[in-house]
Amino acid sequence: MATQTENWIERGSKVIAKNYGRYPLVPKYGNGCWITDVDGKQYLDFVAGIAVNNLGHCHPAVMVAIKEQVGDLIHCSNLYHIPQQIELAELLCANSFADRAFFCNSGAEANEAAIKLARKYSYDTYGEGRSHIITTHSSFHGRTLATITATGQEKMQKGFAPLIPGFSYATYGDVDALRAAIADQTCAIMLEPIQGEGGVNLPPAGYFKAVRELCDEKNLLLILDEVQTGMGRTGKLFAHQHEGIEPDIMTLAKALAGGPPIGAMVFREKFVDSFGPGTHGSTFGGNPLMAAAGVATVKTLLKPEVLSNCVKMGDYLVQKLEALKSKYSFIVEVRGRGLMVAMELSVEGGELVKQAQEKGLLLNCTAGKTLRFVPPIIVKAEEIDKMIEILDSLLAEIKI
Ligand code: PLP
Repeated sequence: MATQTENWIERGSKVIAKNYGRYPLVPKYGNGCWITDVDGKQYLDFVAGIAVNNLGHCHPAVMVAIKEQVGDLIHCSNLYHIPQQIELAELLCANSFADRAFFCNSGAEANEAAIKLARKYSYDTYGEGRSHIITTHSSFHGRTLATITATGQEKMQKGFAPLIPGFSYATYGDVDALRAAIADQTCAIMLEPIQGEGGVNLPPAGYFKAVRELCDEKNLLLILDEVQTGMGRTGKLFAHQHEGIEPDIMTLAKALAGGPPIGAMVFREKFVDSFGPGTHGSTFGGNPLMAAAGVATVKTLLKPEVLSNCVKMGDYLVQKLEALKSKYSFIVEVRGRGLMVAMELSVEGGELVKQAQEKGLLLNCTAGKTLRFVPPIIVKAEEIDKMIEILDSLLAEIKI
């Protein structure tokens, strides 16, 4: 008899678009760092929806907020004032450089908003012809047409031409390359504080300070895409807070509401008039339900024990992975910040992910040979030990 997993996969194969390479897993319940599938098998989740479930699955504070809000009001238009959205904006602004927030539904949309605001501000301030944005090779900014153009990876762009004019790319971590890419038409530089999809690439020390100075010197906006690095993932609420700099615009999504879809672009007061009535919008952006989940999420992330757990467990995870590195010659490097951690291999990592899943462990591989560890930031030492035990047993089987 077919399992429930097999039944769902069979049904999905007939009706769902084929744009994802999916693993044979049909989750039913989530709790903390654990997922249970439709057949009752349990998995330790070190993927967390790719850095979405930072507070773990079904965090009580998020669940309560959603349940309470569902009974009051699920949706209303941005034609009206939305208290939950205002409260979320207040929380984000009080805890960052930002003065204002615009809400949408995803990371790509947040980046679209940032691209539009940077162009519009430049147009309002300097007139036409100053609309170009510099991003970096191996970056990832989303899947809409503008954001695949911003994404410095040809494989994401192939077949979708014509792309959006006005983007150029520089090597990540190299401020001279950014300087060389600046032209008269440039209005902004857009960067991830740590490149996530590109392979958990950390910038060299001092890079962001130098980029900030460069932007100030050339009157360019600095847009930071914190869709993946934000909301506590690296041990601070926002990853740029490790760098001692502030951007002009920051984009957020993924973990902002603890699971429900939401995106945000937050920015300085200086730009507010460039996004006047009618310039930009979103039907669902920041609706009462999503915003209520966002408020509960941010309030929970602001509890000192949550971020300190991220730092402590991040160090613990790196230490454990380093121990594996000294055991296996095909582990090239362990790197990361907080609980955004990578183990780069000299062999392909895709097969390991499949084998780990069979053993009840969810892992992610990005950029071919990089295992990316982004567990909920509430993860416990015992759960890291369990993950390491399974990973070790799989690495031991690799023959090179
Ligand atoms: N920006 C970064 C840095 C991301 O990691 C992602 C998604 O992985 C996105 C943007 C796109 O976000 P979304 O899939 O919510 O559109």
